[in-house]
Amino acid sequence: MLCAGTGRSVGLTSPKVTGLSRSTTSTLVADLRESGFVAERSNRSTALASLPTWSSRSAWALPGPVDASHHRLHDSAILEGWMGVDVAADLRERLSAPIHIDNDANLGALAEVTLGAGRRARTAIYLQLSSGVGAGLVVAGQPFHGATRVAGEVGHVTVAEGGLLCRCGRRGCLETLVSGPAIVEQITAIRGERLPLARIVDLAHAGDADCRAAIAEAGRLTGMVLADVCNLLNPEIVVVGGELSGAGQWLLEPLRAALLGRALPATTRDLRVVGGELGDRANCLGALALAISRSEQAVAARIRASRRT
Ligand SMILES: [Zn+2]
Repeated sequence: MLCAGTGRSVGLTSPKVTGLSRSTTSTLVADLRESGFVAERSNRSTALASLPTWSSRSAWALPGPVDASHHRLHDSAILEGWMGVDVAADLRERLSAPIHIDNDANLGALAEVTLGAGRRARTAIYLQLSSGVGAGLVVAGQPFHGATRVAGEVGHVTVAEGGLLCRCGRRGCLETLVSGPAIVEQITAIRGERLPLARIVDLAHAGDADCRAAIAEAGRLTGMVLADVCNLLNPEIVVVGGELSGAGQWLLEPLRAALLGRALPATTRDLRVVGGELGDRANCLGALALAISRSEQAVAARIRASRRT
């Protein structure tokens, strides 16, 4: 049995998964939803108590920069109740199984280049626009984590000097203007009523000018930051995922225009900027891909060891 997590929920999947392919993804997600295990993201004790004890391997996608050496989330207001906790130790105590954890955007990137819009891309950026804003980077066909495994924190690029206070403690970060909660606040200020992000996205599709304008501005600002990232990384593809990506063209068109208008022509000549294909399944599928790859590595190591004896 493999266990996988996303930022918002935790799920279980088939006990017989040995590999991921596009044809298996719908089955996997059905398993996740039918497993009966969906825990609120902030309720760690409930989540852990609900876990079965028979998972053979577990991979978790956590929303925020992960301190891999201590298996803890760095400070992150998104996952209250999990901060500063050795997640891997907690899970290992419950599951007695190998545990793998990574940032949700990194695993979203892994899923999209394995199964989704970035299939076969060797250099890719996966941007996740949800409660927070982060990017998973794929370089030379491999996830790129950086020296301390916090690469891709584009949500904390400064776009408004002296702007709104960010959860990271600094001001004017991209995330303060384009995250789901930021857009909810902007629409609340305009309309005088608080709408969830999903409703705002629906209204944008239905033609609501305020919702379209807020999403378009989020796309424009994000595209400006991504232009600089693309100048640095020169990717083949930018895949936009997360809850806000459900806005489709109302987000992607201004994002693409800002990116292409600001990045070097040589950088963007062959660049594709597309929405993710895996939707809210991306994090879970990325966690599954991670767990499976580690499982395969473990099997390969055992085979090599047996040959040496
Ligand atoms: Zn910040």
